[in-house]
Amino acid sequence: MRKKIVAGNWKMNTTLSEGIELARQVNSLVENNPSDVTVVVAPPFIHLAEIRKLLTNVYLAAQNCASESRGAFTGEVSVEMIKSTGAQYVIIGHSERRSYFKEDNDTLFKKTKLAIDQELIPIFCCGEQLSEREAGKYFSTVKDQLDETIFKFDERQFRKIVIAYEPVWAIGTGVNATPQQAQEMHKFIRELIAKKFNESLAEDTTILYGGSCKPSNAKELFDNPDVDGGLIGGASLQAGDFMAIIQSF
Ligand code: PEP
Repeated sequence: MRKKIVAGNWKMNTTLSEGIELARQVNSLVENNPSDVTVVVAPPFIHLAEIRKLLTNVYLAAQNCASESRGAFTGEVSVEMIKSTGAQYVIIGHSERRSYFKEDNDTLFKKTKLAIDQELIPIFCCGEQLSEREAGKYFSTVKDQLDETIFKFDERQFRKIVIAYEPVWAIGTGVNATPQQAQEMHKFIRELIAKKFNESLAEDTTILYGGSCKPSNAKELFDNPDVDGGLIGGASLQAGDFMAIIQSF
């Protein structure tokens, strides 16, 4: 059975002390409200090692990783470094990385491969721009993103991956995909996995929704059969809101 996951992407927010406090609050809420949802937080890189020490019921993710394994790449953070902090997940291909840092499919493929090789679980993001949605090209955009990256792996490698469908027009805008829009895309992705690999792998793959998910809309999004949780940005910065989203399952 596939996992339900709610992951909080803190982006470039929180100082170290703020991050520690937020992680402490999330961990304590999760500890006191046990459920079958896997909870993940993705603080900035420099908080990872400190925050790992205080998490007992919550998993840790990096927000990004380098596309090379080590060497003269000033300012980059390798998957091996991330792994050495005790993190278990890494977000790859977030739309902010794709647009502001020009990360292309080849780069994202390399990052995902390195993560799998180091036994970090990639949370691989895909999703269309508003113009692509309006032009009716959202299915083909997402299919191309997957074909050119994670569909190049073999079944053993692909099995390690969590997918996050994040329509770019919904990220940080306050406008979420409707439950119907989320469900139809998640079902489409699952069908692509079944065609590319097999039904059982499609059934086992966790597909998260991301984009202005908050306590007021999480339940209607998570109630869909193919939505297995969420990648949460803004609302993950308040422990109470994040917990309310987790409890929407
Ligand atoms: C995100 O950045 O992955 C995200 C979903 O952000 P928000 O929830 O703020 O839209």
